[in-house]
Amino acid sequence: MKESIYTIPITDAFMQEEKCPFCYIEDKLEVEAVEYALGPSMMEPDFRQISNKTGYCRHHLKALYDKNERLSMALMLSTHLIYMRGELDKAKVEGGGLFSKAKDDLSAIESCSSSCVICEKLEKAMDRYISNFCHTYGKDKEFREIVKKANPICAHHSIAIIKKAPAGAGDLKKYILSQLGAAMDKNTKDIQGFIDMFDHRNFGKEQSPEVKEALKTLTGFLRGSVENY
Ligand SMILES: [Zn+2]
Ligand SMILES: [Zn+2]
Repeated sequence: MKESIYTIPITDAFMQEEKCPFCYIEDKLEVEAVEYALGPSMMEPDFRQISNKTGYCRHHLKALYDKNERLSMALMLSTHLIYMRGELDKAKVEGGGLFSKAKDDLSAIESCSSSCVICEKLEKAMDRYISNFCHTYGKDKEFREIVKKANPICAHHSIAIIKKAPAGAGDLKKYILSQLGAAMDKNTKDIQGFIDMFDHRNFGKEQSPEVKEALKTLTGFLRGSVENY
């Protein structure tokens, strides 16, 4: 069974009212990718080859562990470990004295512990979603209206869109930039209100829900949804 990815409709992400539309997509893709790694991927030699080589970052190892699929995870990690053991044999560590010119070479084993098959997959998928978004925004007036009314795009994804938007998407880039500035100003105001709540002169004063939630909102605004952490 081949994995289905890029299947979350982009308009769904802009219609939901919970979080940044791109965080919404990324969170869903992440859940799918973790499930896939412990399930159907076991039968996919191509994926196993990559995961044996790449391994997983700390965040995704924890996500896999928390799924409680112990046998699948053990099988997957055992072949990763065998691969790593082979790469360790290629490592060269300087054995000379203080002035020895020999250099260490850990490149083969290093690549097994500094990358993550899920992170890489999510990054590629998000690039595709950003490109689809830019394309749809450019050609579909109705979609532009949906975007206007949607949840704000977080700083992390706004910057990614501006960076990755294709040539000719100048209007979109300007729009994202102005939204980002407005959201920064609003967050600055609300977080200051939140800080002021700790001043004893403000004890007992009624605060707006926006000020009460300002820290959570700001955390989400900076790097996207925080609920998975
Ligand atoms: Zn986001
Ligand atoms: Zn990862």
